Amino acid sequence: MFRHCPACGAPDLAFDGCNRYDCRTCGFLFYQNTAAACGVILRYEDAVLLLRRGREPALGMLDFPGGFVDPGESAERAVQREIREEIGIDARDLRYFCSGPNRYQFRDVLYHTCDLVFTGTIDEPPRSLQTSEVDAYVLVKRAEIRIEEIAFPSLRSAMDEYISRWSSDDEWPGSNVTVSPLK
Ligand SMILES: [Zn+2]
Repeated sequence: MFRHCPACGAPDLAFDGCNRYDCRTCGFLFYQNTAAACGVILRYEDAVLLLRRGREPALGMLDFPGGFVDPGESAERAVQREIREEIGIDARDLRYFCSGPNRYQFRDVLYHTCDLVFTGTIDEPPRSLQTSEVDAYVLVKRAEIRIEEIAFPSLRSAMDEYISRWSSDDEWPGSNVTVSPLK
């Protein structure tokens, strides 16, 4: 990602092939660490709510509401904020479900993320959509969910796991860790 040292400008910045940049001239050290991101499988009545992506990467594919965790923010708070920003309502019964690694190419930078996936319920359809990121929302019943239409490997794995635990329309999956309400 970097060709020159951001501290001294020297051209001999070494990359270890994983996450560490090391300047041989001034000793500057930079770790491009994994970023935390969150997503949520939201239930509305007898369907799951998914969002049609309105921008790259994966333009046009289906996504979960969610996004990057901000500096200083918890994943629980981030998922609540993202739901409110993207679909204009609040969810209830948010529970941690699983996590998975992902690679997210945005413009010229490849971000490595760890996506924390939650489950939750909404009692009304979206009131507004964050149109800078989302084209539309879709409500998909269990039999209609197509894993290959979901945008990212971490979310495809989470949905796979979710469907495998979904025994009937009376019993929706979710773990027993509940997120505290947003204050
Ligand atoms: Zn340097």
